[in-house]
Amino acid sequence: MPKTHQSPQDRGVRPSIALPRALVPPRTAWAVRAEQAVEYDVVLTRDLLDPADDSLARAGVGPALSAPARRCVITERTVEQLYGDRLSAYFRAHGIDVRRLVLDLGEEKKTIESVLRVVDTFDSHGILRRQEPVIAVGGGVLTDIVGFACSAYRRGLPHVRVPTTLIGLVDAGIGAKTGVNHGGSKNRLGSYFPARCTLVDPTFLATLPNRHLSNGLAEILKIALVLDRRLFELLEEHGSLLRAERFQGISAPGAQAAEETLRRAIGGMLAELEPNLWEDQLERAVDYGHSFSPALEMHALPGLLHGEAVAIDMALTTVISCGRGLLTTGQRDRVLAVTTALGLPLTHPVCRPDLLERALADTVRHRDGRQRLPLPADIGSALFVNDLTVAEVRSAAAFLHERGNDNA
Ligand code: NAD
Repeated sequence: MPKTHQSPQDRGVRPSIALPRALVPPRTAWAVRAEQAVEYDVVLTRDLLDPADDSLARAGVGPALSAPARRCVITERTVEQLYGDRLSAYFRAHGIDVRRLVLDLGEEKKTIESVLRVVDTFDSHGILRRQEPVIAVGGGVLTDIVGFACSAYRRGLPHVRVPTTLIGLVDAGIGAKTGVNHGGSKNRLGSYFPARCTLVDPTFLATLPNRHLSNGLAEILKIALVLDRRLFELLEEHGSLLRAERFQGISAPGAQAAEETLRRAIGGMLAELEPNLWEDQLERAVDYGHSFSPALEMHALPGLLHGEAVAIDMALTTVISCGRGLLTTGQRDRVLAVTTALGLPLTHPVCRPDLLERALADTVRHRDGRQRLPLPADIGSALFVNDLTVAEVRSAAAFLHERGNDNA
């Protein structure tokens, strides 16, 4: 008879069970280590709300699952007014039963109360934890609020982001961070919780007001100044056209510039974020423009938009870099000229030395006790300094203030 293979259990032998590491040897102190793989997609697309395109209907649904037939879709008032009908028609065409929440937002409403409103909707919707990704459609304020709510609700609900502003397309919608303002401080509460998928569709920019286009162009200028000289040249040559055409590619050069600018801005941002998603490394080039701006933005509310505050921060640090010989005066003037051409401010009445000093002190706390201040060194690269003086900040602010008066 051929010999058949018998497992130890078949032979009546009990396998020895290895004791878990936490029990052997007997101990009274334990070090727990675990790793979490993070994977998410950012997809540049067009005409997302065309019912013939199923990417939004399928977004965030794992390959093993069939697309579930319910979704919680969260938007903000303006987006609802502009795109609500198309959103409804889209989900109807895909047979998806949608529960909608429309929030009245703005930077002042970027609060924990708004997060709780979203959470209440999840509860009343009886949302399934794994299979019904929440869909957030809106600007950076909305995606930050919904992302935070999703990270907190039952400790993690999958979500999909559809950014509808330029800041959202190139920055707020594509990273891992969520957050809300608290106690007068910007993004004081938040989490690292990327969406499963972000669908980036520039057609939403067709309705975005000019000021908000400029706002997003500030974050693109940031990437250009510290990471990508070619992107700076694109903005220098085509920035006004991009703004005038709202990235819709009305002319041939406009179409080419829009495509390359978005590709480089998103790719540059993700290349910086990916190896440092939890910001363990505190020296981050993408923090450029974000050293003084949080305090400026919060103090000027609602006078300064996020990107406008970032632009003022970049103007200050450009002048500081020039003072240190990291940029020539010619390069400094090119940067300031592009900033202005993109419709962005170089200064603001709140940009006073006392506030700038406090802003820097807060940033030092945020960066664990050191300045770690990114400065542009040549156009398209950055270095980090820890020895910025109050005198340098004052002198840069005065220079910009005078230049602002000259241009007035
Ligand atoms: P926002 O969300 O307030 O949107 C700006 C305005 O545009 C709003 O009035 C909105 O109703 C309107 N709007 C949105 N889409 C529109 C469209 N398609 N057409 C017409 N109007 C439209 O502001 P924002 O600039 O998108 O985002 C700024 C926020 O993003 C800030 O709170 C900032 O902290 C945050 N942010 C977050 C990150 C991150 O990594 N999480 C990164 C950058 C910025």
